[in-house]
Amino acid sequence: MIKSEVYDPYQNMLDVLDEAARILSYEPNDYLALKYPERELTVAVPVEMDDGNIQVFTGYRVQHSSSRGPCKGGIRYHPGVDLNEVKALSAWMTWKCAVVNIPYGGAKGGIRVDPSKLSQNELERMTRRYTAAILPILGPERDIPAPDVNTNASVMGWIMDTYSMFKGYAVPGVVTGKPIEIGGSLGRKEATGRGVTIVTDEIAFRKSIDMQKSSIAIQGFGNVGGTAARLFYEKGYRVVAVSDVNGGLYNPNGLNIADISNYAQQSGTIKGYSAKGVTEVTNNELLLLPVDVLVPSAMENQITEEIARDIKAKIIVEGANGPTTVEADKILYENGVTLVPDILANAGGVVVSYFEWVQNLQAIFWDEHEINSMLKKIMLRSFDEVYNISKQNNVSLRMGAYVLALDRVVKAKKIRGMFP
Ligand code: NAD
Repeated sequence: MIKSEVYDPYQNMLDVLDEAARILSYEPNDYLALKYPERELTVAVPVEMDDGNIQVFTGYRVQHSSSRGPCKGGIRYHPGVDLNEVKALSAWMTWKCAVVNIPYGGAKGGIRVDPSKLSQNELERMTRRYTAAILPILGPERDIPAPDVNTNASVMGWIMDTYSMFKGYAVPGVVTGKPIEIGGSLGRKEATGRGVTIVTDEIAFRKSIDMQKSSIAIQGFGNVGGTAARLFYEKGYRVVAVSDVNGGLYNPNGLNIADISNYAQQSGTIKGYSAKGVTEVTNNELLLLPVDVLVPSAMENQITEEIARDIKAKIIVEGANGPTTVEADKILYENGVTLVPDILANAGGVVVSYFEWVQNLQAIFWDEHEINSMLKKIMLRSFDEVYNISKQNNVSLRMGAYVLALDRVVKAKKIRGMFP
């Protein structure tokens, strides 16, 4: 069964949106258009495999809203990608960009594929063909992709090159998260994980929790989870559990994240790592460990109703997009678990993507210190705004974030007016 038949992520997003609209006393007409993505493109991506056979993959690009600026959002390669998931991810990008108040709308793309089964050449051919297929709706003023699950700087480099070849000149601003050598930004690779650590420190501070004495469990050891783990570890925090798709590692006294990162770099997984005091845990067990802070940084719908009831963490910081189902969210709120929502917690990536795009448009580059300090300023300002709205309305931080975002997008729509 397709996973969106079990949990419909787009419907989940609409339910939260309706509640935010109610708090803002909006009439249905005020935000009706935002319930429908502006554009949904499905493309066939035929690829000649190394053995000479042809395989055809299905790709998507969905632009949810361009009310506040060009559409912005990552590209995912995963066997679970479907149109409904991409639609939900594109809408979350609209709200995320509005929460951190950067001048973008939301988009997302993906290909339904297991990239671990492709060679580098096949991956490149698939990326270039997909880019060519969605090219009419891309552009620095139109829609700017970025990395997401199973895509990285090299993939962004191929997208930039393919787009540029069609235009006849280099267009670095068409994509962010590129290699530094072709216009990528310093700090972009770590930005999402860094943002996660900034908001974790802030929520801990507000709740008078001493992070130096706390334990952290992180699900997902990729760009987001792996970076967050390393940055927490470098701050001297006790990261007691990490996991990837193959399973997790646990040591209540703290894991040596530097060592595990080296191991993962060489073997492509953390599975098989061994050290004194380290035991294996499943991904479900990791979510239920007796820790202070839980950072889901892998896929959607990991924290379900059943799991939420038994969660022991006091704080959850959503590194991933949509890791908590709507039902689980309610249970966590009732149980007094503080949850920093995805559209705030993992916004660091799109903030530095915005910096990358601005640098590309101006053809001027900033140093890493400047980038990291501006990232921190924006994350803390956004956190503060979300926190205050949730306190004023006596709602969760997720609802506070949606109220802030919806208000900003609806105001932009009203000012622009209805076309024609
Ligand atoms: P990634 O491909 O770099 O890493 C994903 C990690 O999750 C890997 O360690 C993988 O093994 C693990 N994983 C995959 N399926 C899993 C499962 N079922 N159970 C446990 N672990 C699993 O991806 P990423 O860029 O780190 O993205 C992770 C999440 O963060 C996604 O929800 C993504 O949308 C979100 N996100 C990413 C960025 C970014 O800048 N890359 C920005 C914002 C949000």
